[in-house]
Amino acid sequence: MSKPGVMRHMPQIAHVDVNCFYASAERAFDPSLEGRPVIVLSNNDGCAVTRSPEAKALGIPLGEPWFKLAPRAKEWGLVALSSNYELYGDISARVMELLGRYSAWLEVYSIDEAFLGVKGTPAELVALGRTMKATVRRNVGVPVCVGIAPTKTLAKLANKWAKNNPAFGGVCHWDSVPRR
Ligand SMILES: [Mg+2]
Repeated sequence: MSKPGVMRHMPQIAHVDVNCFYASAERAFDPSLEGRPVIVLSNNDGCAVTRSPEAKALGIPLGEPWFKLAPRAKEWGLVALSSNYELYGDISARVMELLGRYSAWLEVYSIDEAFLGVKGTPAELVALGRTMKATVRRNVGVPVCVGIAPTKTLAKLANKWAKNNPAFGGVCHWDSVPRR
């Protein structure tokens, strides 16, 4: 006998990704950077490898060499930081440890991205995503977006959609992504 609703409870994948990770990690370490344009520079302070949203809004391209930015940094109030991989590794470990509490299956995909196995209706999973987002923000101090879908690829797409459409509040289930 088939049970109604069973399909909606099929295992799903949540993709969690920290927004502009290095800049967010620096802010978690030094909250006075909140709201300011921040870039993190590559090894030997060569070029911008991460930009906070405020730095992106200034039109600073990813990979822009520091020598081109330096003359205008003061005028912009731009904060440029040397990369601190020890800090990023520490923040990453704390994010992954927290996420691990929400699933028996966690795949750390990169320093700031993970896939989690989750189960529930789309509404339940969006609620779970919001809980994870709020908990990471509160306990570690970095912003994340969450995409949820039946596969990893679609979960990444749902996450991208959440990131680019503020109305979603950083959490999106694939069912809510408009099909074109
Ligand atoms: Mg990221």
